[in-house]
Amino acid sequence: MNEQKDTQSIEDIYADAAHWHVNTGGETIHAKRVKGRFRTLKWYAGILWLLFFIAPYARWQGQQAILFDIPHRQFHLFAMTIWPQDIWMLSLVLILLAMTLFGVTAVAGRVWCGYFCFQTVWTDWFTWLEDRIEGNPIQRRKLDAAPWHGRKIRLKLFKHSLWLLISILTGVTFAAYFTDVYQLWIGYLTFEVPLVAWVVLAAFIFGTYVFAGFMREQVCFWLCPYARIQGVMVDKDTILPTYDVNRGEPRGKTKGRGSTSGERGDCVDCHLCVGVCPTGVDIREGMQEGCITCGMCIDACDTVMEKVGNPKGLIRYMSEKEISGEKLPPLYKRPRVIVYSMIFLMSVTGILYCLTHIPPVELSVVHERQPLFIHMSDGGIQNKYTFKAVNKMPEDIRFRLSVRGLPGLKLSASTGDMVVLKSGKAIPFHVFLRARPEQLQQENTPIYFQLRGIDKPEIHLEYKSVFIGPK
Ligand code: SF4
Ligand code: SF4
Repeated sequence: MNEQKDTQSIEDIYADAAHWHVNTGGETIHAKRVKGRFRTLKWYAGILWLLFFIAPYARWQGQQAILFDIPHRQFHLFAMTIWPQDIWMLSLVLILLAMTLFGVTAVAGRVWCGYFCFQTVWTDWFTWLEDRIEGNPIQRRKLDAAPWHGRKIRLKLFKHSLWLLISILTGVTFAAYFTDVYQLWIGYLTFEVPLVAWVVLAAFIFGTYVFAGFMREQVCFWLCPYARIQGVMVDKDTILPTYDVNRGEPRGKTKGRGSTSGERGDCVDCHLCVGVCPTGVDIREGMQEGCITCGMCIDACDTVMEKVGNPKGLIRYMSEKEISGEKLPPLYKRPRVIVYSMIFLMSVTGILYCLTHIPPVELSVVHERQPLFIHMSDGGIQNKYTFKAVNKMPEDIRFRLSVRGLPGLKLSASTGDMVVLKSGKAIPFHVFLRARPEQLQQENTPIYFQLRGIDKPEIHLEYKSVFIGPK
């Protein structure tokens, strides 16, 4: 990785300081890269995102393992198939994701923004390439300001080509979650995909290229709603990258390692924390909307503290209470964290239960209302029912239909007494029940329809309904 080799002296850092200034929106942020714990963590988070590119190629029993099959209205996840009837589970998944976000933010601020958000991660990849191709931030600024010449054109062309390549890969990968990835590649390469696939690709190329390549931190500042709502999720116990003002102030320049001054605090006013900030924030001015809590300023300041012989941690993860000398309460004593965790656990339990209890066949039976029953010419009473059955299994299933609950009931169905449910299809059909008036003891008699698999007797469904007769 192209983080700056830690060979700079404090004098070199001071010499660079003129280039680091707070983001006022007037120019592109070119953040310096320094090594450190949080930088490494950020790389690991970025590597996790590589799964996004790999996952569509995973196969399971001959088909794509993760597939949103919109034409057939199915979502395949390895051995599981989720149908539109089970889509309510999505609400549990959304609650789960929201609680994870709220809980993590309550504990440690915008961890999502700093490490996992696709905008942050893609921007990090794009700027890493920029660093490799055009040089460090100071060289990049010089290159930007220089008139166009052969080298500048070559470097810019190379960089933009790689950015476009990532953008194209991002677009194709996204589309690949909705159709077979290999067919999709062939379709794109032979220009034989439907219009919608081109629209998705174009939107993703444009979005990735512009957002990660040009807008970068401006997306976090101006477009992302999360920056605005996070204020309601953090409290005085939330730990955030914080400048230890008690220890750092009054800030002042140092003459080097071991240099002391009775009046000066530990901040040597080198501006490196500003120089590494991907959003151009000066953390020393307190918590700000632009801070995505990425911890890069912690790594930078630790490097400086090492060089000048001071203890690390002048900038560190710390809560508002800790700054004012109070103790951080344990997580299990924080009501906000407890509530988020409980909802999180309930959502996980609900999702696990649902996933393990998805019925192979979904059945609904509606009793005809107009009329509730009819008198037949032979004196019998007939009720009519509309069945809707969805076969969620990968193969067709034959069922035998019967009814219990009222002795002597005669059943006839528009399909005969054998029902064939096609895989993945919702089949509506009508069922008629007939009874003799003398069999009816009451106006409404509970009855139970039964569907039993002919080839798969283990699939057995029962649906409670009612037989209605005269008063
Ligand atoms: S907080 Fe640390 S990195 Fe920032 S100016 Fe002070 S010493 Fe330098
Ligand atoms: S202030 Fe520090 S933690 Fe916040 S965004 Fe800048 S570098 Fe990251």
